[in-house]
Amino acid sequence: MVRTRFAPSPTGYLHIGGARTALYSWAYARKHKGTFILRVEDTDLERSTEESVQAILDGMDWLGLGYDEGPFYQMQRMERYKAVLQQLLDEGKAYHCYASREELDKLREEQQAAGLKPRYDRRWRDSKATPPVGVQPVIRFKNPLDGAVVIDDMVKGRVVVSNGELDDLIIARSDGTPTYNFCVVIDDWDMNITHVIRGDDHLNNTPRQINILKALNAPLPQYAHVPMILGHDGERLSKRHGAVSVMQYLEDGYLPEALLNYLARLGWAHGDEEVFDLDQFVEWFDLDSISKSPAKFNPEKLLWLNQQYLKKTDSKRLSELVLPFLETDCCDPETGPRMEEVIDLLKERVNTVEELADAAVYFYRPLTPSPELMAEHLTPEIIPAVREFQEKLGLVEWNKPSINSLMKSVVAEHGLKFPKLAMPLRLLVTGETQTPSVDAVLELIGREETLKRISAHMKSFA
Ligand code: GLU
Repeated sequence: MVRTRFAPSPTGYLHIGGARTALYSWAYARKHKGTFILRVEDTDLERSTEESVQAILDGMDWLGLGYDEGPFYQMQRMERYKAVLQQLLDEGKAYHCYASREELDKLREEQQAAGLKPRYDRRWRDSKATPPVGVQPVIRFKNPLDGAVVIDDMVKGRVVVSNGELDDLIIARSDGTPTYNFCVVIDDWDMNITHVIRGDDHLNNTPRQINILKALNAPLPQYAHVPMILGHDGERLSKRHGAVSVMQYLEDGYLPEALLNYLARLGWAHGDEEVFDLDQFVEWFDLDSISKSPAKFNPEKLLWLNQQYLKKTDSKRLSELVLPFLETDCCDPETGPRMEEVIDLLKERVNTVEELADAAVYFYRPLTPSPELMAEHLTPEIIPAVREFQEKLGLVEWNKPSINSLMKSVVAEHGLKFPKLAMPLRLLVTGETQTPSVDAVLELIGREETLKRISAHMKSFA
């Protein structure tokens, strides 16, 4: 039975890299009808915050990555870690180390001076010396002295690390609190994790974790270390490259399914497939098709995908998503055309929900056209035609074809080309020059409001 986990540290928001790890762990569990667990690694008291925990939960929720167990919090498992620490001490698999900071600094300097790699020299490992008085010792794990750790990583392939490279890791600080690598091991063991899927920045922890698991006679999970995500400049993805918080994408008007689709493809491929839903992803996903090299984050591609999803999304759902944006833009959708109709007209033309809201504003409140555009489009030769349209618009049926034929008859009468009237009408009614076809826009804005808006401006040409 496959059991995977996502184990974020709540020291910031849920970022793109974390979300991708979560997605892969989630998908692997789903594919194998297994269990996906959320575990919050909150033992770093200085850097962990409640807000970050909430941000992670919100991010998972928005993305729709449901977990079957958890969230578990490491801080609530201290008793268990301490019990296992004691067990290792009792079994002689861990030991107290009383070396002071000064001693260790001195050791490091000597090793460096001798051209050696700095590392703890195991001075308390088998020591029979009397412990110094008043020193609170750390606990170190007795790493095997010989042999090597072999990791058959499901992404990286075989990785062999000689035990000679690993020193005796501190597993509890002098205040008795267990360290990060130790908690992860106990959790993965207790939670019966079968597949540890995580960023390859943790690869160098893995041999240490495996040695501790072996010392506990615990079964070893399989590991899959996923390469990092880089920015366009080849540096590790960071704030410099734009939004890295998952929730920022909600604020910027992205759809969660578009972001998931993008993250799925970021470092994993199924042929040339670009647009696929989560069910399809779960069916196709496999750890061995994760790319071995780091992926580059490409915001344009994400935007493109978002647009693909937006076009396909039902306008009813979009109207719910667009509402908070419209409210921020001081629009009251109750006072104008039905949002779904507005969205039908606009959704092919925009990339994000935010852009959709921006494009919808003039349906709910008039925007003031710039004087330059007014001067450009409302020239003396055009004004009589606009006036005639203004006078006759009360006489036709208010729908797109009738508005269109009215416009055609007015331009014909005045010997003008169609856009010569369409542009100023657009400008007068919407305040903008880039809109869907003007007859469709006017139909939705409504006869009364159209007349009101045109009249408001035409007064100045009296
Ligand atoms: N808590 C670690 C992190 O946020 C992940 C540890 C793991 O997946 O083993 O980077």
